Amino acid sequence: MPDATTLSPEVLAKYEPVIGLEVHVQLLTATKAFCGCANQFGSEPNTNICPACLGLPGSLPVLNRKAVEFAALASMALNCEVRERSIFARKNYFYPDLPKGYQISQFDKPLAEHGWIDVPAADGSTKRLGITRLHMEEDAGKSIHDGLADSAHHTSIDLNRCGTPLAEIVSDPDMRTPDEAWEYLTRLKEILLYCGVSDCNMEEGSLRCDANVSVRLKGAPQFGTKAEVKNLNSFRYVRAALQYEIERQIEVIESGDRVTQETRLWNSAENRTFSMRSKEQAHDYRYFPEPDLPPLVVSAAFLAETKKKLPELPEARRARMIDEYKLTTQDAFTLTATKEEADNYETWARKAKSPHRVANVLLSELGGRLKALDLDLEHSPVSMAGVVLAADLLEENKISSKQLKQLFDVCFEKGEDFAAVYEREKPQQISDASALEAMIDQVIAANPKQVAQFRGGKTTVAGFFVGQVMRASKGQANPALLSQLVTKKLAE
Ligand SMILES: [Zn+2]
Repeated sequence: MPDATTLSPEVLAKYEPVIGLEVHVQLLTATKAFCGCANQFGSEPNTNICPACLGLPGSLPVLNRKAVEFAALASMALNCEVRERSIFARKNYFYPDLPKGYQISQFDKPLAEHGWIDVPAADGSTKRLGITRLHMEEDAGKSIHDGLADSAHHTSIDLNRCGTPLAEIVSDPDMRTPDEAWEYLTRLKEILLYCGVSDCNMEEGSLRCDANVSVRLKGAPQFGTKAEVKNLNSFRYVRAALQYEIERQIEVIESGDRVTQETRLWNSAENRTFSMRSKEQAHDYRYFPEPDLPPLVVSAAFLAETKKKLPELPEARRARMIDEYKLTTQDAFTLTATKEEADNYETWARKAKSPHRVANVLLSELGGRLKALDLDLEHSPVSMAGVVLAADLLEENKISSKQLKQLFDVCFEKGEDFAAVYEREKPQQISDASALEAMIDQVIAANPKQVAQFRGGKTTVAGFFVGQVMRASKGQANPALLSQLVTKKLAE
């Protein structure tokens, strides 16, 4: 096949991609879905197992109440309707990491349906992406192909993961670009983390993604034939695999062939997908109701109790913070990246005279320096108390922003917190109006052109004079007083 990137923009523009995502999330319960074994990543292989999760004859599954609570919590956070009575089903297939020969899953009566996530669209508006369903199931074990002494000759099996509770979240085929898929996953992960139902650690396999993608001529009434790209373990790979797959399928169609329905895998080293097997049809799994488990009945009381545990979700939190603290959208996104960061900001911002200033100092002054040094907030020389003090001093015009920068420089040079440095250095501030006026007069006399501009109606030139006097005062001029005097003097 020729390189997919040879397609011209005109050809690409004729087609519309259709993307749907299936996300498996491991739930953060202490024990497994249907037995009392520890649900723990990184244990010695085959130590967290029992007859039930190995499917030995005579053992029976018992549903973990906490797993239901987490799945219901995620369902509500994703705006799904939770079904009062859902059914567990056996999904039958043979694979070395599945000793039972089936997974307990849910099929035609899943726990929850009809949800949605709002994502920011490319044009600045919001796009609502549907969620078809959220159902509960159990994870399989893991084949280990390398890293062990005899890996050259054998594949080993670690069954610790068997029976780990999963929520599978299936989106509607609503996404039209790889970027929308990226946004969906980012928002989904954020919501799940805020709810505390999963650690969403992709490196440890706590969150895994399969992508369904097809293309059709723009305006065509029906979807094209889709390919499924399985086991994508980073959002970057999802985006790259979708991009590749879209171009590959367009190329197939343009060359007069048909896209085959199949399962493909992403090869990150070669930056392409390749065929794994032709798609199994759903009936190959021979689903039937799990005979060892009764229907799952979620009472209204249980749901009401669970709903109380729903935190303020990231989207709502951003909207409130923008309104309450007058933050920019970008700043609100940065401050709410995790629930812990958002909690940290709000706890301290509420102690400050201006939460808005706290955001500025935190993101611009502190954030920039920490990023340059590759440090996190925990290892910052300036504490949050220091950030609040700095923001208050700025707000009260006791220091200028230039002085703040100088003080922060000292904090980072000496590894000291802001309060200590401020107490020692106590930067001088010129708040004597006559002294400032004298400096302003000098700058006005030296810049007749700008004075003429100001008097001609270009009042923004005032900022130029403020800057010049601030520089002449070595950053010591009281900024509020200076700005007031400059306007007065220019108007004379
Ligand atoms: Zn077990």
